[in-house]
Amino acid sequence: MIGRTVAHYRITDRLGAGGQGEVFLAEDTRLGRAVALKFLPEEASRDAAALKRFQREARAASSLNHPNICTIYDIGQHESRPFIVMEHLEGRTLKDEIGGQPLPTERLLDLAMQITDALAAAHQKGIVHRDIKPTNLFVTRAGRPKILDFGLAKLSEGDVASGPTNAPTREKDHLTSPGAAVGTVAYMSPEQALGKEIDGRSDIFSLGVVLYEMTTGRQAFAGSTRAALFDSILHKAPTAPVRWNPEAPAKLEEILDKALEKEPELRYQSVSDLHADLKRLRRDTASDRTAAPSVAESSSPTEDAPASERDASSDAAIAIGLLQRHKGLLYSGLVTFALACGVVGYNLFQRPDTDVGPGSIESIAVLPFENVNGDPELDYLGDGLASGILYRLTQLSQLKVTASSSTRQYKGERVDPRRIGRELDVQVVVAGRLAAREETMSLEVEVIDTRDSRLLWGERYQRGRAEVSELEEVIARELVRVLNLEGNTEEKDRLGRRETDNDEAYQAFLRGRASFDRFTRADMEKALGFFEQAVELDPDYANARAWVGMSYFMLAQPLGGVSHHEGWRRARMAALRAIEIDDTLGIAHVVLGSAYLWYDWNWASARDALATAARLAPNDTHVQSLHSWYYAAMGQHDEAIALGRRAIELSPLDPIVRIPLEQQLRIARRYDEAVAVCEDALELNPDFRRAYSDLRRIYETMGDYEQAVDTYEKAQTLRDGDPELAVRLREAYELSDSDGYWRWWLAREKEGREPGETCEPCVRYHAALAEYDEAMEELERSFEDRDGNLISLAVAPRYDPLRGDPRFQGLIRRMNFPE
Ligand code: ATP
Ligand code: MG
Repeated sequence: MIGRTVAHYRITDRLGAGGQGEVFLAEDTRLGRAVALKFLPEEASRDAAALKRFQREARAASSLNHPNICTIYDIGQHESRPFIVMEHLEGRTLKDEIGGQPLPTERLLDLAMQITDALAAAHQKGIVHRDIKPTNLFVTRAGRPKILDFGLAKLSEGDVASGPTNAPTREKDHLTSPGAAVGTVAYMSPEQALGKEIDGRSDIFSLGVVLYEMTTGRQAFAGSTRAALFDSILHKAPTAPVRWNPEAPAKLEEILDKALEKEPELRYQSVSDLHADLKRLRRDTASDRTAAPSVAESSSPTEDAPASERDASSDAAIAIGLLQRHKGLLYSGLVTFALACGVVGYNLFQRPDTDVGPGSIESIAVLPFENVNGDPELDYLGDGLASGILYRLTQLSQLKVTASSSTRQYKGERVDPRRIGRELDVQVVVAGRLAAREETMSLEVEVIDTRDSRLLWGERYQRGRAEVSELEEVIARELVRVLNLEGNTEEKDRLGRRETDNDEAYQAFLRGRASFDRFTRADMEKALGFFEQAVELDPDYANARAWVGMSYFMLAQPLGGVSHHEGWRRARMAALRAIEIDDTLGIAHVVLGSAYLWYDWNWASARDALATAARLAPNDTHVQSLHSWYYAAMGQHDEAIALGRRAIELSPLDPIVRIPLEQQLRIARRYDEAVAVCEDALELNPDFRRAYSDLRRIYETMGDYEQAVDTYEKAQTLRDGDPELAVRLREAYELSDSDGYWRWWLAREKEGREPGETCEPCVRYHAALAEYDEAMEELERSFEDRDGNLISLAVAPRYDPLRGDPRFQGLIRRMNFPE
């Protein structure tokens, strides 16, 4: 077969053979992607109705689009032999993965949970697999299990499920049928072995047999003849798993027992129940470990050590196992690494094991993936993939993850990883190259140690163009695995969560995030459009809704473009709806908390919602920096400043993140430090206009008008600046000192507004000019307009000249600041 072309598939290699046919590696010459071609026996085509049914089922399973189900691309016929074209998987079968040895419990549970998740999805659509066994479960190189051969069993069996009346003959059929190999029989449920009608519970039994094998390395039911095997399945209980694997948790045995009940009525009734039990077990084993963290490092515990310590020691074993596997991967990554980085990889294989021991990696940066197509239209994909991985990693509260707004600074540059390590203060950096074609994309990823530029891990992925979020998830999980990143089960769960099943919606979301980060009014309006599009495509897309809220927030408050009332109403609605769908999203809570803070002036609710957000997203620079505003408003300056600094730690190269910190410092009247922050921001981006205007405000507040005018002058030399304006300000100042200065600003501010439009900055100008009535009028109007700037009414220096005014004190009372 090799070398031949079947339809438009050019067969290049043989992947394996099973009971009913052979599987080949082939190239889809139309789409240029690798596929797996499975030829079915000729008999399969004889029963046209059965073939149709199979096609229907295979398609239905495939259309679930589940990350743990091998995708069927096409079904065809070649010289009367039907064949299936499916996703080509790289890795090995679960049978080889088990290799006759028990799998570590954590790994076992990880695989089992993904398999049960996929199977539950299929069962929900009424699709029963009928042939769950270790060779039909594949483990990809990225460690992801995939279920193969959905719907196929029924085809090869003939119409087994034709009714209980057939039972006796069916049983005989099975006992004698040459088609069903012993290998397959070993995983059959009793009812299937008896040829009875089967349902999803039969799959549960078969999966139970597989889980038993994963736990012990041995088959649950054995027999040298088919008849002995049947007898075993129908009448015998398998040997207790601890016998083969002393580490097997008691709870896992219970789960196995319940899955392997002979009587379908007594078994788990749904895969979701089995899934839930596995999940509970995983949670409990994880919490056991955190209860005794120090034991993992100690020498091996004695036989009679408490259970928690035994778990801890097995965890250490898992870590070592991972490390060994990880070393193997270095080879495969070497070529990629050399290609992508141009850095010479020396010492690659002498990596001391301690380097990636549990918890040793505390900081990471994911650079935007290089877009090797050179088509700038596709930039969002490379950026988006990288920030999606990064966002997932932020779920691990112990890990410092540099925000994408900082890593973006390296885009398109070849930078020495050591420099990145220094500048971002991270231990490892993830880099990648993305080649996107019309239908597919391929991505090479590697992880580099920033201390010595050594490659820690590398991998190459090939996916359909739409499978962005799946790819992110796989890579994020893989990073957790190979770098041994710390995190509790819940965090790791969130990290793998899929935000939407709608790929188009996800792409719109990515475009939205890219626009958002550019942070101008026009880009924000574009971002909003993309997020709204994502929500339209998938109304349950909670994160997209949260970002709709975030965009309205930015348009209502710092950027303008939407009225405060309208903007906040919409921001709040979006956040509430997002929380309704998923209450663990930090971004949604931060939008809601900000609505309480900036618009409602409801301090207690703001405090709670923002604290929730900060707890859920300790690693999110937006969340941390927005949280700081609550403390600023309350006059708790140290807390505000600490959060502002935390936000910078998470995004050290993003000048925008420095602005809130500068404002907190200014409100705290720590002017010298505030100046330093602006200077830092300008060092990062000398064209950053906003840093100049903040700097000028600090000088004004300090009463240093000379410097304020100088700063304004510098700002007007930037691109888009107007030096003429600076000349006029200087004239005004030289003519009548600070009065001239303020009057000029007042006039300039009014110029840009409709008559009657509120003008919160004008409060300050009038106040500085000792025009208290006008200042109070502006302030009253800003109050009516619920201008968010008023949250710092009680503390900000710009209101100082007004503090003695009873009307001002009245406003302070009306805002209900806590005592
Ligand atoms: P059965 O015929 O009962 O399903 P089996 O599962 O052992 O038995 P096949 O399904 O024919 O056999 O698969 C044969 C081998 O081909 C598998 O063990 C696997 O290694 C390989 N294989 C099957 N599908 C793919 C795929 N999509 N990508 C890569 N390799 C595959
Ligand atoms: Mg198979």
